[in-house]
Amino acid sequence: DWINFTDYFHKIIDRFELSKKQNVTFIRNLPNKDFYVEVDSDKITQVLDNIISNALKYSPEGGKITFTATEKEGFIEISVKDEGMGVPKKSLSKIFERFYRVDKARSRQMGGTGLGLAIAKEIVEAHNGKIWAESEEGKGTTIFFTLPYDPNQEDDWE
Ligand code: ATP
Ligand code: MG
Repeated sequence: DWINFTDYFHKIIDRFELSKKQNVTFIRNLPNKDFYVEVDSDKITQVLDNIISNALKYSPEGGKITFTATEKEGFIEISVKDEGMGVPKKSLSKIFERFYRVDKARSRQMGGTGLGLAIAKEIVEAHNGKIWAESEEGKGTTIFFTLPYDPNQEDDWE
């Protein structure tokens, strides 16, 4: 389906902001303009739900989560940045593998199965996008993904 990505992303963030139990501040860097992208919106919702619940799960008390969406050439780049414990460099690509969890002890205590990001990767790649992570241990993690976006395609509808 074709969705207005800016509206859609705001609604997803709203849902988490209204239901969150932690003292975490949400910051939105979303464009003021509309972006129409053709995606399976239920599937992209699954991707964002997992990334945002991870960010909340690993956020410290009083931390910030920053949501960004920017237009690049031929795609939009979406990112969710937290101020949590981070992921060691050597594990950064592994977190997208099935059942991989950085630290068994800390993960057991946090719950989950280790499938969320593997599913997110499958969905993003099925949309011809990319997904990756950047992190600094003790400072936080940012998960990025892209979705193809053709600004000219909107004009074709007129
Ligand atoms: P599930 O998503 O299936 O409930 P999960 O959250 O443990 O379980 P993934 O979402 O796939 O699994 O994440 C894999 C692992 O990557 C996590 O167990 C955690 O160790 C690490 N991780 C993911 N996101 C973050 C983050 N924002 N900060 C720190 N570590 C993270
Ligand atoms: Mg998860």
